[in-house]
This record gives sequence, C-alpha cells and structure tokens, in this order.
Amino acid sequence: MPTRLILLGSTGSIGVSTLEVVAHLNQLGRSVAVVGLAANGAWEKVFLQTQLFGVKRVALADPAAAAQLRQAAPHLEVFDGPGAATQLVEACHAQDGATDVAAAIVGFSGLRPTLRAAQLGLRIHLSNKETLVAAGALVMGTAQQSGAVILPVDSEHAAAFQGIACRLPAPFAKGAVDAQVAKLVLTASGGALRDMPLADMKNATAKEALCHPTWKMGQKVTIDSATMLNKALEVIEAHWLFGLPGEKIGALLHPQSIVHALVSFNDGATLAQLASPDMRVPIQAALTWPEAAPAPGPVLDPLTLTGLEFAPLCLERYPGFALAHRAISTGGTSGALLNAANEVAVEAFLAGRIKLGRIAQIVAEVMDAVPAAPADSLEAVAAADAKAREAAGQRV
Ligand code: MG
Repeated sequence: MPTRLILLGSTGSIGVSTLEVVAHLNQLGRSVAVVGLAANGAWEKVFLQTQLFGVKRVALADPAAAAQLRQAAPHLEVFDGPGAATQLVEACHAQDGATDVAAAIVGFSGLRPTLRAAQLGLRIHLSNKETLVAAGALVMGTAQQSGAVILPVDSEHAAAFQGIACRLPAPFAKGAVDAQVAKLVLTASGGALRDMPLADMKNATAKEALCHPTWKMGQKVTIDSATMLNKALEVIEAHWLFGLPGEKIGALLHPQSIVHALVSFNDGATLAQLASPDMRVPIQAALTWPEAAPAPGPVLDPLTLTGLEFAPLCLERYPGFALAHRAISTGGTSGALLNAANEVAVEAFLAGRIKLGRIAQIVAEVMDAVPAAPADSLEAVAAADAKAREAAGQRV
C-alpha cells in the first residue's frame, strides 16, 4: 500500500528533513504522498510546502497565521487553534486515507495529535520524545489496543529498534524485549558545552549552548543536549518504547555521534548501529521500514571509523541526567512533571531569564514540590503538565 503521510511539525528541523526524504524516495520511484501538514505559525513556508508536495489540508496553531494562509490560498482546507493538528489528523484519516503520521512537533503540544493518531491505528513515525516522556503508558496502551505501530525516529531509538529487530520480530510483543535484552545503551555527544570547564558551565549563554558539535537540530533539543536532559528524556522514551526497566537503560558519552545505540542481549552479544549523524537516516528507515532504500545523503565509510571514543557520563557536569531514572522509578505523572518543568526552564534560558545551571535544578525542584499522580488519562497528564509549568514558572 502506498504511504499517505501526515506531517506534524513540517517547518521544524525534523519536518524539513522529512520532506527532503519524501522527495528523495519519490525520485526513486517509491510512492510517498503527503496529505497533511501541521505547523505553528510559519504560514508562508507551509504554503510553499503545500505547492511542492500537492497538499490540500493544513493545520496552523496560530489563528492569525491561518487567516493569512486562507487568504493567500483559498483552495486549502486550513484548521487553526490549539486543536488544529488533531483535527488535521482526523480529516486526513477520514478523507484522504492517511496511513502514516510523522510526529515531529516539539514538546507537550505534540501529545494530543499523536495520541489521536494512535487511537486511529495509524503508523506513527515518532520523533516527538516528549509525548512518551509525558504520557508513555497512555500512548503505548492506546497503540496496543488499536494496532498502531510506533516507529522511533529519534536516532538512538531508531538504532536500538534496528538492533533489537535483528533478533526479535518487530513490532515487539509486550515483555519480549525485556525477556531477551540485558542492557540498552544510548550514546550522547555531550552537547555544545562538553569541553567547557565545569566551573563555567552553569553560567553558559544560549549562544554557547546552541553550537552543537555534531548534530544540526532545533533549539529545544540542542539546549537539552547541552544539559543532558535530552538523554534523560530519551531514557524515559526508551523505557516506554521497548518496555525495559530503568536499570537496564544507560547512556555513554560518544563525541563522534557515529554509534547511536548498543543493545546487549542476555547471551553476551552486543549489537551496535552506526550511521553518519544525519537525521535523514532514521527518518528514511521509518518511511521505508523494513526495507532499506538507497540513502538520501553520503553513506558512512567504515574505513573512516578510527578513533571512536566512549566515556561514562559525568553526573557532576550533567546532573539532569539522573532525573530520568528518578522519573521512571516514581512512575505516574512523574515524566510529565519532568518534561513540563524542563520545557519552561529551557524557554526561560533561551530568553536570557535564567542561567544554564538552573535548568536541571528547576526540574528537580518541581519534581520535589509537585506530587506524582496516576497517569491513566489525558486529563491527568494535562493537569500534571499544567501544575509543573506553574511551579517551574514561579522558580524562573
Ligand atoms: Mg536523539
């Protein structure tokens, strides 16, 4: 069946790369149609994307931007407001026979449309890690009930998925990964500040923290990389995706960003996945899974693989990393609290209102101050998210 894709977050870094991969696959003669685009407010960019890919339905969270797009392009169906992306998913499912959703909206606002896609049984290409961090039990449980397949696009998780799939049939049955895998290690580049003297790091500026050494990404994830909160989010994401307990998931510093994950099976075999640090690789792997189409960019030359380095994470440098295991062992809405506090703190840091060292402190303080509750409904998760935002805002 040809892929009919809804792209949520089409103007962000992952969204733009996804469209590049779609164009590349269509050039190869594979049929990937884009049936819907969702973005925040960059309506001119979205308009251009609809022209290039023949898209008829769009969601813009910003109503003013949506009004401008309607005026410029009366032939488009345009949804607006906070529920726009969810409405787009529903319309494209009902009217365009959508098969797949690329969930590339950053942050908690990606949760509702992704959850709706899971309810509708669509195949989900997941790069919005915050969705699983905040509501992993809900999203995975919904997908299991509807039969929605979740294909990870976050590079480490795409790597782990491929490693696990070498020995277990995918999609993985409940408990199957835990029964065979002894340890999953996600690699971390160390972010922009990995070589900065520890004493200076807590006062680093946004400009310094945004210069990522190996990956070109959006601002939120680049700051999360500098604080290692990104790896904390990814440990929680892996916990939900693969059904592994927290103690089986770790992280290793790997400055070259060539090895993305290591999966150690019970019998002592460890499978690693290696690829250039290029998000188009995991994006394409999900779009063509389980097949491997010709790469969209330069392929890793194994002869260049000298000098790969690995080191343990220094928790003194990255205190935010330890919060992942705390959130997993506390459970319930703990992940939602961590995620919301981090979103607020990162935004405040980017606006110059707090120092880098405060981000992880604020997240920890919010997790101390707001008690976790069962995360069994969207309402419970949204309530925890709101409480954590308020508590984090006070601390900012
Ligand atoms: Mg990642």
